Amino acid sequence: MPTVGFVGLGNMGSVLAGNLVAAGHAVVAHDVAGPGRLPDGASFAGSVADMARQADVVVLSLPDGTISQQVAKEVAAADGRRAAHLIDTSTSGPQAARDIEALLAGHGVGFVDAPVSGGVAGAKARTLAVMYAGPDEACAAVEPVLAGLSDKRFRVGDRAGLGQAMKLANNFLSATAMAAASEAIAFGLSAGLDMTTMTEVINASSGMNTATRDKFPRDIATGTYAAGFSNSLMAKDVRLYRAAVDDAGGPAEVGDVIAALWARFAEAEPNADFTRVFPFTQRGAGRSPE
Ligand code: NAD
Repeated sequence: MPTVGFVGLGNMGSVLAGNLVAAGHAVVAHDVAGPGRLPDGASFAGSVADMARQADVVVLSLPDGTISQQVAKEVAAADGRRAAHLIDTSTSGPQAARDIEALLAGHGVGFVDAPVSGGVAGAKARTLAVMYAGPDEACAAVEPVLAGLSDKRFRVGDRAGLGQAMKLANNFLSATAMAAASEAIAFGLSAGLDMTTMTEVINASSGMNTATRDKFPRDIATGTYAAGFSNSLMAKDVRLYRAAVDDAGGPAEVGDVIAALWARFAEAEPNADFTRVFPFTQRGAGRSPE
């Protein structure tokens, strides 16, 4: 079993690193915030270079593509580096994935672009979808590590960037479902319906989606708002989606509306749990009165 270096022990990374330990990997982890969320059974490295000297395969779970690129550079440049492959599970965008692949190739490090979807709850249940892309050699070399992350894995292509494109299309739909369900349920409540009735009926009807099925009953109706994914990261995902659609020259009418809504929410309440988009919508979704 390869020794795994893990960078980024946040909401998602701390669970994924724990899954790797549970699958029998030796895990050496690093986070700029320190070892506070280090899973039991893993060891902490004080720097990215120190981790890269001990690990065969490095896994990243970082906020964005700029940070993934910076950490990939530190891995590649580490004196006495052992790591020969790197997997980025962050949502970093197709361009960042291609840049990271090129940067690492110059140092003989293989790269697999492997963003994830299914939330912290999915990561804990090992049902998280891992959508990965990379050349045959790199994918084969990291397979035991991908298997340690989750039981649900999809190879979506043979070059970096395709995993990210897949993930952005998915998260645009997830962001749209949250925004549209919030608007529909806010309307129903103002008309005199109650939330539990609404989600029960919608989930037995054609309007059902992941927001009405999972997030409303678990995070919103209970008032806990603890899905473990921030509105700032969702705004980043939709922004990356819009940029990627522009690069591809495709249509983005719905994309423009959804990107603007998540940008307003993230600006008004930075780093709030993304399920708080429901009360934000009830308060008028940050639009100034006409
Ligand atoms: P988070 O903000 O909770 O965690 C990010 C972690 O990275 C933090 O612990 C931070 O200290 C660390 N970090 C930042 N810069 C660093 C650096 N230079 N070196 C080392 N560590 C650094 O974010 P998250 O929710 O865990 O998400 C991580 C990635 O996974 C993001 O790209 C996100 O879009 C993606 N993602 C998250 C979820 C989710 O449900 N949370 C789901 C799918 C995808």
